[in-house]
Amino acid sequence: MKALIIGAGIGGMSAAAALKQQGVDCDVFEAVKEIKPVGAAISVWSNGVKCMNHLGMGHIMDDLGGPMRAMAYQDGKSGVTMTQFSLIPLIEAVGERPCPVARAGLQAQMIDHWGRDKVQFAKRLERVEQTNAGVVAHFTDGSIAQGDFMIAADGAHSVARSHVLGYQAQRRYAGYVNWNGLVTADKEIAPLEQWTTFVGDGKRVSVMPIAGGQFYFFFDVPLPLGLPEDRATVKENLKTYFEGWADPVQLLIERIDPKTTNRIEIHDIEPFNSFVKGRVALLGDSAHSTTPDIGQGGCSAMEDAVVLGQCFAKTKEVKEALLQYQSLRHERAKDLVLKARKRCDVTHGKDMLVTQAWYDELKQETGENIIAGLKDTILGGPLG
Ligand SMILES: Cc1cc2nc3c(=O)[nH]c(=O)nc-3n(C[C@H](O)[C@H](O)[C@H](O)COP(=O)(O)OP(=O)(O)OC[C@H]3O[C@@H](n4cnc5c(N)ncnc54)[C@H](O)[C@@H]3O)c2cc1C
Repeated sequence: MKALIIGAGIGGMSAAAALKQQGVDCDVFEAVKEIKPVGAAISVWSNGVKCMNHLGMGHIMDDLGGPMRAMAYQDGKSGVTMTQFSLIPLIEAVGERPCPVARAGLQAQMIDHWGRDKVQFAKRLERVEQTNAGVVAHFTDGSIAQGDFMIAADGAHSVARSHVLGYQAQRRYAGYVNWNGLVTADKEIAPLEQWTTFVGDGKRVSVMPIAGGQFYFFFDVPLPLGLPEDRATVKENLKTYFEGWADPVQLLIERIDPKTTNRIEIHDIEPFNSFVKGRVALLGDSAHSTTPDIGQGGCSAMEDAVVLGQCFAKTKEVKEALLQYQSLRHERAKDLVLKARKRCDVTHGKDMLVTQAWYDELKQETGENIIAGLKDTILGGPLG
């Protein structure tokens, strides 16, 4: 049996690993010649780490995972700590640690785990055709590939999605811009083993430790779409948006390298329930594109892959396995997208009264409520 996997991102490489475990042969096709990840790093939360272990890629987490053992919120302007607590109780409760990792490293190691020479780069899917017996992928270079089924892990701008849904799903602007990158970790900015977030005016500045003595940083600012800002203006933009903020924020802006800082207008897609049509299944962002506000998009792609593998372990009847995959995933995926959207609105001042109430709550927070929320999200995954 042969699966065509479209996209060599987190979703595609997880799906390939999961299907290989079930003895399914996979051909992986990737649109670009060389993958350049959209963000500098991601937090793979404990549910994602469990998936990586399950898929035989736990060593990547050991290699790349940063020492994130505590969490804190600080008032952006005064720098005063609103709440600070250990993440060890969370790790003990869910049975695995979270791993913030550099994206380039994660992507490269996932591809290497599969076999770089087995990924067909510069193959951009143009359209999908289904026959009674299988699927045909048509690529923009005029070539085709045939298989028994297709896993379309072709990301938020998926080409295969409209084939599955029968319409073009629209992306929704979430109302804020995110700048992210990597910087040398420095305790003058924040403690080295802590995820530290500065908040105020619906904006946030965050640093998370990844391996190799680096911080993954991000800045979020509610802004209209389409402003004429880019890497050339990043420092002056951030200095303006964060004028009057505390010294560690100013130091971080000073230290960042504009050449490697990404600027992203954050979007998601209204959740839909169909991930599958016949022999074609969507997986990862193609199935559920989310804002990054609870750090679960990539983890969710890994969860999809684990469930896909579990379905093929139960039956090798393609259509049945894919429908089972859909029924086991759509509620969970939708829940995560909507949770992230809700968190996004509170964090980014959609209604400043609600955001102010959250800031007030943070000053009373002992860690218990935040850990309960994280635990709930993590334990909702397929591996508990
Ligand atoms: C700023 C930001 C921060 C984030 N932080 C986190 C986080 O902390 N934790 C977390 O879990 N998630 C996070 N995410 C979400 C995460 O990045 C995505 O959910 C994840 O990358 C989805 O993986 P994917 O493989 O489905 O899609 P993608 O990563 O988009 O990969 C899709 C791949 O398919 C290829 N492709 C596209 N079209 C075609 C085509 N037509 N033919 C062939 N190939 C094609 C692309 O080139 C790409 O390589 C964040 C996202 C953003 C934007």
